[in-house]
Amino acid sequence: MTIGNVYIISAIAIIGGGLFGFDISSMSAIIGTNQYKCYFNQGSVPCAGPTSNVQGGITASMAGGSWLAALFSGFVSDIFGRKKAIMLGSIIWIIGSIIVSASQNIGMLIVGRFINGFCVGICSAQVPVYISELAPPSKRGRLVGAQQWAITWGILIMFYISYGCSFIKGTAAFRVPWGLQMIPAMLLFLGMCFLPESPRWLARKDRWEDAHAVLTLVHGKGDPNSPFVTRELQDIKDMCEFERNNADASFLELFKPNMLNRTHIGVFTQIWSQLTGMNVMMYYITYVFAMAGLSGNNLLVSSSIQYVINVIMTIPALLYVDRWGRRPTLLLGALGMMTWMFANAGLLKSYGTYAGPGGVGGHTPEASWSVTGPPSKAVIACSYLFVASYAPSWGPVSWIYPPELYPLRVRGKAVALATSANWAFNFALGYFVPPAFVNIKWETYLIFGVFNLAMFVHVFFAFPETAGKTLEETESMFTDPLGPKYIGTLPWKTHIATSKALLLEHGEFDEEKARAYGHEEDVAERSASDTNGEVPKL
Ligand code: BGC
Repeated sequence: MTIGNVYIISAIAIIGGGLFGFDISSMSAIIGTNQYKCYFNQGSVPCAGPTSNVQGGITASMAGGSWLAALFSGFVSDIFGRKKAIMLGSIIWIIGSIIVSASQNIGMLIVGRFINGFCVGICSAQVPVYISELAPPSKRGRLVGAQQWAITWGILIMFYISYGCSFIKGTAAFRVPWGLQMIPAMLLFLGMCFLPESPRWLARKDRWEDAHAVLTLVHGKGDPNSPFVTRELQDIKDMCEFERNNADASFLELFKPNMLNRTHIGVFTQIWSQLTGMNVMMYYITYVFAMAGLSGNNLLVSSSIQYVINVIMTIPALLYVDRWGRRPTLLLGALGMMTWMFANAGLLKSYGTYAGPGGVGGHTPEASWSVTGPPSKAVIACSYLFVASYAPSWGPVSWIYPPELYPLRVRGKAVALATSANWAFNFALGYFVPPAFVNIKWETYLIFGVFNLAMFVHVFFAFPETAGKTLEETESMFTDPLGPKYIGTLPWKTHIATSKALLLEHGEFDEEKARAYGHEEDVAERSASDTNGEVPKL
């Protein structure tokens, strides 16, 4: 049995995103517990935990594994298929989780986390590729964006599981949450057995009958001659033909003049998503809230609220990102986040004071600045608002956008490169932020505010709109002979498309949808011509 409903297909594949989320919060609620600190103790003081450098290494080992695997995942997915790559990822996760939960020492913990990172690297890069190659253009944003939703759920669930388990006595406090992580990976593996392979990958391997069968199942409601299937198959054929005659599919192709623009856009989408400062909130919110005077349980509960906000505020993007388009979503998101970052910098500078070398409370040098009274509430509010701005914008779009940018022959590798940039910066920021709080204090916020401004300008001038277009139509936008060479249509002149595919999707003209996408002219054309319910010529 093979499942053909794109919603079910995505729901299964995005479990890979859930594992990603587990990865992000797998340490945050555990490292502070006595059970962990006593067991993985270093040095002569009992229960002091690993030294801060070693803790940095333990935390970062997963991001390191993710970075490496994201980079290589393109080769795996191009050779063996998108589906097998994701299945391989889930097996790796299970192996890693067994090692992590059975850890006898720090070395074993690091190795296990590195292996887990391998899974996350593969899945975070290849799940979006897989879904975007199966989804119809009009729902692609929503379906790929669901991966981000799964990430936010993963972060939330793992944080609360770890927090709950911290009340267990003994090593089970950390072994149980790290062991429970295996369950979703098993579900992912089993679920993937029932899903089809990407039709675009099959076509590239010259398995045309298989590709046609998958398109029929997923887009044709079982009718191999449905107009949408016929058109998609033709598009894929044209594309494969063109690629066969014109290009080689090596990694180096990404750096050739005609592809460099797109490579840089994809890579920067992920770099900027990290430089928004979102992971300051995800990893280090406890420092920020400690500066605002919170401590103990209050601190943990207030911190966890932002994980809830993250989940809830991703929903609007899932519903509307295909209508909003990618560009406006990225631009508005950057503006919003910039505002909250600058506001926090201003609040801390104007109303705060240096908290001394031990930081607020004397034991946390990173909580280097102290703010009290109403301004401290404002700092907390701005932090929540920041998360509420990232969640419906850069969060989902950083996954939706890169796979849309590239032609089939390089898509797997290009997205892999972009995703590895996410992990490289994730890793770097993980290290950079704590010393930044210690040394430059509130000015850390200024830096992220400036990054948000820079990404706004960059997106405005360099990132074209891809919403509503078939992957093949996006290709022609970049090769538009009327625009500058190697750039194509100028990005600020691009708009959401009512692509032909969108109109043909259900074998009939969808007037409401055409209007929603701003294509009044198609509606007018249709009512002018007597098509008797047939698809209008576009
Ligand atoms: C980012 C992660 C981040 C998460 C938060 C993802 O898109 O890549 O680094 O922690 O969003 O929701």
